[in-house]
Amino acid sequence: MEDTPLLLDRLGVLMQQSLREDSARHDLLPIHLQILAYLERANRYSNLPIAVAEYFGVTRGTVSQSLQVLERRGLLVKQPDADHGRRVHLKPTRTGRALLNNCWTKRLEAALSELPTEFEHLDDALRGLLILLQRQNGQRAFGVCKFCMHFQTRGRSARCGLTGEPLAPEQTERICREWTQNNPTATAMASA
Ligand code: SF4
Repeated sequence: MEDTPLLLDRLGVLMQQSLREDSARHDLLPIHLQILAYLERANRYSNLPIAVAEYFGVTRGTVSQSLQVLERRGLLVKQPDADHGRRVHLKPTRTGRALLNNCWTKRLEAALSELPTEFEHLDDALRGLLILLQRQNGQRAFGVCKFCMHFQTRGRSARCGLTGEPLAPEQTERICREWTQNNPTATAMASA
């Protein structure tokens, strides 16, 4: 694992470079595309402005400016919460999703799909590393719902043990800000 820090650093730099090129092509800042990509994966407890700020470790003011740009460009919409008066959920529009389909995340997925089968446990190693780093900086984990300790199933239905609310199948694959680690070796987060 001697080379791992260098490899991770190099991968990070390459992805940032790819992200910068994508955002420049669309006359956006990298953070705009990153927010859009996050919202495409976030569940209903996490597609809120406060969750976006927590995920990226930026201020709510910075998030607010970025959301205004994305909304003005028709890449996301704000939808009022039916049960909580002032809460709004942020959803990428069809145009926003189409833009993401031609971005760095898809190229990364394509590259990963070309890895030989002996790399099938790469996810586990990266998730373990992520958990350790998140513990160091005290940030929320933001994991995938179906790997959370509060995730409950009965027959073919699922529910959140924290809120007591039912979870539609597509919500169980999404990222949640309330995610809690199941055990030290459990998964923290599929790539967001
Ligand atoms: S089960 Fe966990 S990850 Fe899923 S919605 Fe509940 S708190 Fe969030």
